[in-house]
Amino acid sequence: MSNEEAALWIKDPLAILAEDAARGIIVKAGRIVELVPAGRSPQAADAQVFEAGAHVVLPGLINTHHHFYQTLTRAVPEALNRELFPWLEALYPIWARLTPEVLDLGITVAMAELLLSGCTTTTDHHYVFPAGLENSVDIEVAAAKRLGLRVLLTRGSMNLSRRDGGLPPGSVVQDEDTILADSERVVRRYHENGEAAMVQIALAPCSPFSVTTSLMKSTAVLAERLRVRLHTHLAETEDENRYCQDVHRCRPLDYLENCGWLTDRVWLAHGIHFDDAEIERLARAGTTVSHCPCSNQALASGTCPVCAMEQAGVRVGIGVDGSASNDSSNLMQEVRAAFLLQRSRYGVTAVSHRDALRWATKGSAACVGRTDIGEIAVGKLADIALFKVDELRFSGSGDPLAALVLCGAHRADRVMVGGRWVVENGEIPQLDLSALIQRHSAAAHKLQRLR
Ligand SMILES: [Zn+2]
Repeated sequence: MSNEEAALWIKDPLAILAEDAARGIIVKAGRIVELVPAGRSPQAADAQVFEAGAHVVLPGLINTHHHFYQTLTRAVPEALNRELFPWLEALYPIWARLTPEVLDLGITVAMAELLLSGCTTTTDHHYVFPAGLENSVDIEVAAAKRLGLRVLLTRGSMNLSRRDGGLPPGSVVQDEDTILADSERVVRRYHENGEAAMVQIALAPCSPFSVTTSLMKSTAVLAERLRVRLHTHLAETEDENRYCQDVHRCRPLDYLENCGWLTDRVWLAHGIHFDDAEIERLARAGTTVSHCPCSNQALASGTCPVCAMEQAGVRVGIGVDGSASNDSSNLMQEVRAAFLLQRSRYGVTAVSHRDALRWATKGSAACVGRTDIGEIAVGKLADIALFKVDELRFSGSGDPLAALVLCGAHRADRVMVGGRWVVENGEIPQLDLSALIQRHSAAAHKLQRLR
């Protein structure tokens, strides 16, 4: 819809993930203003019509964890078949060679993949800042604006190199003062407060084994002062547990709390290795968790106890994680992966396709700290994803909503962000995908020194 003031009726969908909206929804000025129940006509009589009879309509999916630059290092030969720590050690030297132009290609590929998979809001955790890449967040903001994707970008950081007992080499870390100054710069420059924000910034030291305690603490203080969210990796592997015991003489969650991070400002990536008492502490604090099922399976990190967390009151969202460990940025496929993994852990009756869709929408909205997205309801932003079920993989399916998850939907036909179509007929307008693939592939191979 080009004119955002005119009302648009997404009419008579094949199926829709919303209560009392069998005849569709009315979108106006970037928001959902009316749900049209079965047997009724909309109150907005003059609305333009989009015939949705072939579409399953979902709230736009929200991606709560990613590292966009990693689309440049998918299936890297040296990193294959390695667990997290040696996997990282194989990749850090490659990431140290990133340049602004190459990073822009990596970001654009990640965002395009996300959009085409039905994602309307994404986070990104960018934490490698080799010399020359100081403006990484600026490059990300520009790409998000170009593509029309809603974002919560994090200013990530690492300041604990191998020399000081950390994991990364010195070439990809910065010092604490530089990190804090740039964190404040990007928040003041780009962070939009309040409802309907298109660009928000959070702060995100990388992990206990790549960041000093001092930086963890000072980042929490800065986030409090600037009123922005906080993000980090936690409880991802047994290696990390051992590292925390050896270095900090406590478990990762204790360490987090000691750093002033056990709050409702924080969402954590992975959250696999928490015991019951720790899950209770997360729930009490209002800390949320991003479940990344593909990455966790690929690196054999373990399985996030999603149902136990939800039962305790912890809100859980879905993240694709970096494209070097997934190695895909397809959020709809991540929903299916979460459905399968959690069902295998908790049983058939405990996990339905609707649960998995809820994690990737309402649950993810809690992770990014927003109440204006994640749901098709009156007053929410018009962020929606429309899928067709006419591909071979869906042939003969009964329940269209269940079919998206069970048959493996992977490409949205249409995606709307804030009332604006950003994907139409399975394509992103003004983005030449084949040219992008060609340039991105060439840049990635050069970066990996493969060609
Ligand atoms: Zn990650």
